[in-house]
Amino acid sequence: MPLPRTRGTALRQRLAELRGPEVPAKALDARALAALAANPGCKRRAILDGAGVNKTALASALGSPSAFGQSQFALTRGNAFEAKVKADGGAELLRLVHERLDRRAEPPTEAHVPDLAAIGPEGRTARTALALREASGTQGWTLLDHPMLALDVAGSPAFLEPDAVVVHPDGSWTVVEIKSFPMLDGSADPSKVGAAARQAAVYVLALEEVAARVEPAPRVRHRVLLVCPKDFSNLPTASAVDIRKQRAVTARQLTRLTRVEDIADALPEGTCFAPDLPSGELTAAVESVPATYAPECLSACELAFHCRDRSRADGAVTSLGRSVRAELGGLTTVEEVLAAARGEAGDPDDPAVAALRRAAELRAEALGVTACR
Ligand code: SF4
Repeated sequence: MPLPRTRGTALRQRLAELRGPEVPAKALDARALAALAANPGCKRRAILDGAGVNKTALASALGSPSAFGQSQFALTRGNAFEAKVKADGGAELLRLVHERLDRRAEPPTEAHVPDLAAIGPEGRTARTALALREASGTQGWTLLDHPMLALDVAGSPAFLEPDAVVVHPDGSWTVVEIKSFPMLDGSADPSKVGAAARQAAVYVLALEEVAARVEPAPRVRHRVLLVCPKDFSNLPTASAVDIRKQRAVTARQLTRLTRVEDIADALPEGTCFAPDLPSGELTAAVESVPATYAPECLSACELAFHCRDRSRADGAVTSLGRSVRAELGGLTTVEEVLAAARGEAGDPDDPAVAALRRAAELRAEALGVTACR
């Protein structure tokens, strides 16, 4: 539900203050949103993303630059491939959608490609919604090239730009993701396909919000089209990807995010994440927001090296992985775990403590030493 105007304005102003004066907001893309949903307990990431902070610049200013992002070469290659896929009014792209997802429909001989230009993300979102509504009743093929969708994330709107959305003759909508990693013999790297599916799931959720406002509501397909270069060529090939599971997980995780407003209210007065602040001040600002570091952050968040260092310095067991953390129950630091294993602390009836003591005994036995008690 949108915030009342005054509350929404106050929140936007507060988020701008957190970002720093004159610092432009970084739009939250689907990749970032999927990563945010993968770690819903992390308030640090939620407030930084909600405020539009450029985490890459922030990580560098903190002295722990991220190892993230595509090289210029990869970006150029990706853009060239996308342009090739969408050439001739999207003829090849629509052929692939028809072939992989909708063989029963009339083959696309021509397609409508509406102009989606408008001022600002809100204007583009409204233009996209109108184009989708109009296209749903035409009984033909429509290609929306880089539409703009909005999704409410922890109480603040995130604007998302899928590569394309196709409206089928039956009025249903399909998300298309165009990636530059290759599809070899019909299959691609599963981890990359998984990441693309999580991204597409975010777009599907945003599209469903648009569809819910159309009468009768069009069907948003839960099989998306992934287009990649075929083998080692730059010829497009495609595969239908079922994103039902990713959609359900992402929808659930997004509802678990703490509201950005509540996190902002809990921050000390004057907190600011502007990357040009002195590093001590910046570190204090970042550390004032609780984080839940896990090794998975290394492949999903620009602040991972900073948070890992902090987590290790605190001896937090989360830096060993979520599964280890879950096994250790109430023991949250490495020090507590070692003390429990040595029999110096912990409740012996606690299964985690008992298992640690048993493990320490077995280790001592194997090494021929006496376990510390
Ligand atoms: S790296 Fe830090 S800020 Fe990013 S998700 Fe992990 S704990 Fe949160």
